[in-house]
Amino acid sequence: MNEKAWVLRRQLVAAARRLTARGLMPGPSGNLSARLDAERVVIVPSGVPKAALQPEELLVVDLEGRVLEGRHDLKPTSEWPMHLEAYRRRSDIGAVVHTHPAAAVALTLADIRLDEPVLPEAVLLLGAVPTAPYATPSTPENREAIAGLIGRHNVILLARHGALAVGRTLPEAVQRMEVLEHTAQTLLWAHLVGKPAPLPAEAVAKLEAVRAVYGK
Ligand SMILES: [Zn+2]
Repeated sequence: MNEKAWVLRRQLVAAARRLTARGLMPGPSGNLSARLDAERVVIVPSGVPKAALQPEELLVVDLEGRVLEGRHDLKPTSEWPMHLEAYRRRSDIGAVVHTHPAAAVALTLADIRLDEPVLPEAVLLLGAVPTAPYATPSTPENREAIAGLIGRHNVILLARHGALAVGRTLPEAVQRMEVLEHTAQTLLWAHLVGKPAPLPAEAVAKLEAVRAVYGK
């Protein structure tokens, strides 16, 4: 195994522990992957608690989901079709993170959308966040639910289920997931005490200019 593969495995394990510690991947839920090269992806196994994940437990799959490397007693996360759909549609991305963040899922239950700009941080780091229709978790339905959205969005809410974030790098995808949940939590609190208004168009235009300069 080459150096890059080991670096990615260690990064994925560290990210899984971080997201678990933050409560974004309770129990066996949530999964992560990172692109090894144009044709191969390193992905977490199914059924292994993320807090105890070890680098050698990760698997290498091709973009069709065929296992190229991995322990015989392990198989890729059941959400692999959703991950690989993102890589197939986005040659620019290097990582995919799927979690079950409580506040973000609560927004989908209450039919509160995140595709309107509300907080500057979210405009800069996430862009518009659409909500994909409900799909049965751990089935290829999730691949279909995100297929029409992932080409234009870096973060997607999955109705009644969770969220998906992609990035050029794993740290970028993880950061987007954390900013998503922070935004969702803030919005949820605002809805408890009032009716939050979207950012005015002029403010959004200024933020877009900032984003263009800093390349976020
Ligand atoms: Zn899930």
